[in-house]
Amino acid sequence: MRAEIMMIGTELLLGQITDTNAVFMARVLAENGINLHLKTTVGDNRERIVAALDAALDRADVVLCSGGLGPTEDDITRECVAGVFGRPLVYHPGIFEAILARFAHTGRKVTENNKRQAMVPEGGIVVENPHGTAPGLIMEGDRGVVVCMPGVPHELKPMLSEWVVPWLRQRFGLSGVLVHRSLRVCGMGESRVDDLIGDLILAGSNPTIGLLAGPDGVTVRIAARAEDRAAAEALIAPVEAAVQARLGGMAFGGDGQTLESLVDGALRARGWRMAVADAATGGEISRRLLAADAAGFGGGVVLPSESALEWAGNTAGSLLPEGAPEEFGAPPGDPLARIALDLTRRILLEYPFDSALSVVSSSVEHRSTGVFWCPEGCRFFGMGHYGGGALDQTRQAVTALEQVRRFLVGLPATA
Ligand code: ATP
Ligand code: MG
Repeated sequence: MRAEIMMIGTELLLGQITDTNAVFMARVLAENGINLHLKTTVGDNRERIVAALDAALDRADVVLCSGGLGPTEDDITRECVAGVFGRPLVYHPGIFEAILARFAHTGRKVTENNKRQAMVPEGGIVVENPHGTAPGLIMEGDRGVVVCMPGVPHELKPMLSEWVVPWLRQRFGLSGVLVHRSLRVCGMGESRVDDLIGDLILAGSNPTIGLLAGPDGVTVRIAARAEDRAAAEALIAPVEAAVQARLGGMAFGGDGQTLESLVDGALRARGWRMAVADAATGGEISRRLLAADAAGFGGGVVLPSESALEWAGNTAGSLLPEGAPEEFGAPPGDPLARIALDLTRRILLEYPFDSALSVVSSSVEHRSTGVFWCPEGCRFFGMGHYGGGALDQTRQAVTALEQVRRFLVGLPATA
C-alpha cells in the first residue's frame, strides 16, 4: 500500500506556521508500517488542490490530507474532494446538530457558515472529531482513498492515531508493526560513527539502521518490521549488540536514558556531588543538569573564558592537591589544560563537593579543554570548535558531560 500526505493551507506556503502535522503524520504512518511515498503542500486554492489530489490518486492508494475543513470560505477541502470523486456534497443534519450541541456547551454562537462543515461528499465516511467542530472524512472510489483531517494539531492527532490508522490497517489488511530503538552517541562526530558502523547500515534491510546527527549527539535508529513487538525486538537485539560492539560500548539510551540522567546516576551511586566551573558553554552544562533534576549536581560558576585565567589563579588550599597538569594526565604543554585544572582546584575551594568538572575555551585557538576530577582519578579532554556560537556550546557541554559519564562507567576517553 502506498500512501501520500497532502498538507493544505496557504499559511504553510507563506511560512507562517511550521508544518508539525506532517512530521507527526509521517511518524505515525511509519510506526504502523504504512509506506509513505510523497508529501505535498498546497495552498487554499481550488484548482491547485484538485490538481494535487488528482495527481496523488494517480500515484498512491491512500492520500491523507490535513487542513481546510473549517467553516470559512477558504476551507475548501471538502468541495475539492467531492469534485475529484465526481460526487455531490450532501447536507448531514446530524453533523450540524452535533456542532450546535458543542457550541451550546462552550457558549459560542453558531453561524450560518458552520453548515458548511455538515456537508459531506456523497458516500463519504464521517469521522468524528471529539476535539473540534469539523469532522474528518474518508472517501473511497476506484482511484483510491482520500482521508481528510482538520489542520488543528490537537484535533488531527487523536483522529489519525485512534481512528484513521486502525481503519486503514483493517481496510488494507495490514498486519505487523514497526518497532524502533534509538541509541545515542555523544562526543563523537557523525562521520566517525558512520565510519564505525557504515557497513552495518548498508547491509541492513530489516532492521534498517539510520543516523541522525545534531549538536547534542548522533542518534542511531534501528527499526524492524515484524508481526508483533516481540518478534521485532528479537530482530533488533543482535543488530543493537553489533552496533554497540563497533562503537566500543559508547552508545546509550536504548531504554530512554539521557546523558544527564546517566551522569547523575553515576555520581549518586557513589554518593557524590559535582561542582562545575564553566568557562566554555555559557552555563549549558549546569542548565542541562538542572533540567534533568540531577541531585548529583552541587553547583558551580559560569564565567567568560577571558576571566578564567584570573579566576583560576588563587587555588591554594584546594581539595585537589597541587601538581603540574601533566601529573594528572594532561596532554603535555597545553596551556588550556593548566587553566582547566586550576579552575577545578578553584571551584573546589568555593564548592567543596566530591568531584569537579571544568571547561575552558579559547577563541584564538578555536578549541576548548576540560577536566573532570574525582577521588577515583582525573580525566582531561579536548574539543575543537566548529562555527562558534550556541551550537558549539551545546556540542561542548555534551562532550564534557559525556566524558564524565565515560570516566565514571569505566569507558576510555575515545572509542
Ligand atoms: P478548523 O476546523 O479549526 O478551521 P481546518 O481543518 O480548517 O481547521 P486550517 O484552517 O487549515 O484547518 O488550520 C487551522 C489551524 O491549525 C491553523 O491556523 C494552524 O494553526 C493549524 N495548522 C494547520 N495546518 C497545520 C500543520 N500542517 N501543522 C501544524 N499546524 C497546522
Ligand atoms: Mg480553517
